[in-house]
Amino acid sequence: MAFYVQKYGGTSVGSTERIKNVARRVARFHNQGHQVIVVVSAMSGETNRLIALAHEVQENPDPRELDVMVSTGEQVSIALLAMALKELNVKARSYTGAQVRLLTDSAFTKARILDIEADKIRADLDNGHVVIVAGFQGVDERGNITTLGRGGSDTTGVALAAALKADECQIYTDVDGIYTTDPRVVPEARRLTSITFEEMLEMASLGSKVLQIRSVEFAGKYRVKLRVLSSFEEQGEGTLITFEEDGNMEQPVISGIAFNRDEAKITVLGVPDHPGIAYQILGPVADANIDVDMIIQNVSHEDLTDFSFTVHRNDFKKTMNIIREKIQPHIGARDVIGGDRIAKVSVVGVGMRSHAGIASKMFRVLAEEGINIQMIATSEIKVSVVVDEKYMELAVRVLHKAFDLEQAL
Ligand code: ADP
Ligand code: ASP
Ligand code: MG
Repeated sequence: MAFYVQKYGGTSVGSTERIKNVARRVARFHNQGHQVIVVVSAMSGETNRLIALAHEVQENPDPRELDVMVSTGEQVSIALLAMALKELNVKARSYTGAQVRLLTDSAFTKARILDIEADKIRADLDNGHVVIVAGFQGVDERGNITTLGRGGSDTTGVALAAALKADECQIYTDVDGIYTTDPRVVPEARRLTSITFEEMLEMASLGSKVLQIRSVEFAGKYRVKLRVLSSFEEQGEGTLITFEEDGNMEQPVISGIAFNRDEAKITVLGVPDHPGIAYQILGPVADANIDVDMIIQNVSHEDLTDFSFTVHRNDFKKTMNIIREKIQPHIGARDVIGGDRIAKVSVVGVGMRSHAGIASKMFRVLAEEGINIQMIATSEIKVSVVVDEKYMELAVRVLHKAFDLEQAL
């Protein structure tokens, strides 16, 4: 007998028919004698619909009220799944985040999990129930409903698996595992049988939204066995996220390619090049709670330099205003330009540590396609470039081919 946390995403519970399918799968595990906690997302499209509704009423919806509203999507799913299980004569009980008492901080729309009360869930499991928990939501210490950020049901699943010490957290979704890159963009992408936590963290943070980054962080921290599988296929092992030291296989140099269109680039032109200038530009941006990702400062000519950085697209206008109004006049920069038609493409792999020349190969492949690189960032296990958005898919496809990711290992 094993103890599983199974999380089913939006598409997997996208209709009542699909919810009945999920119920059949869960019932099968239950009837085999396994203990199961199920975490579900809102039905596909529902969270977007609710957010759009809020925007019809308030240009910038109040975050507390937004969380009260968007959390209803998951509440519908848990109730429907409990009903579907009861139809199959399986004892089931659904709980919202607040009912579990999944305690979070009060950062509405991006709250962090602080604690999970396990007693009630454990008692239900011991009494032969399937326990169904609403993903994506929690409650702060004053009883306010909070949500965990888009894709947050993954994190609910992993956090429950950690808190209750499940044998495995299974993320059921609309693909049958983690692929070398998004199979919707590169049909030749290949499913990986395993990927290391470090690589998955990079892939998630660089744009592969198949797992919310916090869920991967949580799994790494609490050493939760995490697997991604298809909710539509009966068989298949999916992809296991592994710890590097467990691996005995030869690591490929590159495991995957991630990409995103979530960033915007801002360049401050003709900046006097003296100590403290980076702080003068980025200090006020940080004070406004805006995260900066990539940064480039050029060599100076006649003591003037250009300074570029990227921020999330949602923060683009706000950042431009801060730089134009507060910083440009203050430091005497010549001009400020920016645009959000950029994309970041990254190659990721722990094997890079022991292989030179990955970055130069990436640059050569892009050059051969006439794709101009606007910015570069590297770490031990990734190389990222910013390119014009219109070349993003081409860049991903040619890199996927050049790094032999289509070949079975
Ligand atoms: P869910 O609703 O189940 O949470 P998501 O849409 O959040 O599902 O995540 C699954 C999607 O992630 C897939 O449909 C796929 O298009 C996308 N995706 C992006 N990168 C990858 C990757 N490297 N491997 C697999 N899927 C990926
Ligand atoms: N329903 C939420 C979202 O769409 C959470 C999730 O699906 O994980 O972001
Ligand atoms: Mg998701």
